[in-house]
Amino acid sequence: MSTLEEIALEVAECQRCPLGKLRTRAVPGEGPPNAEVLFIGEAPGWHEDQQGRPFVGPAGQLLDQLLALAGLRRSEVFITNIIKSRPPNNRDPLPAEVEACRPWLDAQLAALNPRVVVTLGRYSAARYFPREPMSRIHGQSYQREGMIVVPMYHPAAALHQGSLRATIETDFRKLPAALAQARALPRSAEAPEERPQQLSLF
Ligand code: URA
Repeated sequence: MSTLEEIALEVAECQRCPLGKLRTRAVPGEGPPNAEVLFIGEAPGWHEDQQGRPFVGPAGQLLDQLLALAGLRRSEVFITNIIKSRPPNNRDPLPAEVEACRPWLDAQLAALNPRVVVTLGRYSAARYFPREPMSRIHGQSYQREGMIVVPMYHPAAALHQGSLRATIETDFRKLPAALAQARALPRSAEAPEERPQQLSLF
């Protein structure tokens, strides 16, 4: 199994989809290798593409504030995206791009083995909840693959739609309880694909 650093080096060179030719820098993600919480956003934007770091633009500033509400520091969580290269004009990721990037996220999940995964926005939520609408599932804790998965609205949505701000803040305040639940779960030695997949609402 590759380490997070090895994965990041490979992502930096990745040409698995045409975005590899268009980006300034790939954005593999960042955080300590022992992080208990993994945040998965959508795709790098302009600022992230320039710096090679996730969530460093306006949505990232809001994410920092939301992390504080959850009692978390950015330095103690791992932050990445569903796709690691910026789509032109910040368009939505294409299914083929999500598919091409999937092995990197799979490898990051295997290397980190987080207790809690927080998906930010519908593209990352779709990895675990392909059919459920965000309006129904946001802020709830679900047991998946031996972890707790918490789907959240994307911070950029709260920037563009003021009414979502209070909702996303309420949802982030629930994260300490989700982490406490996750710490009480037995850590499975089985491979992720062998673990039960049923949806269970806490
Ligand atoms: N939005 C995302 O989904 N990811 C980033 O890294 C920045 C903005």
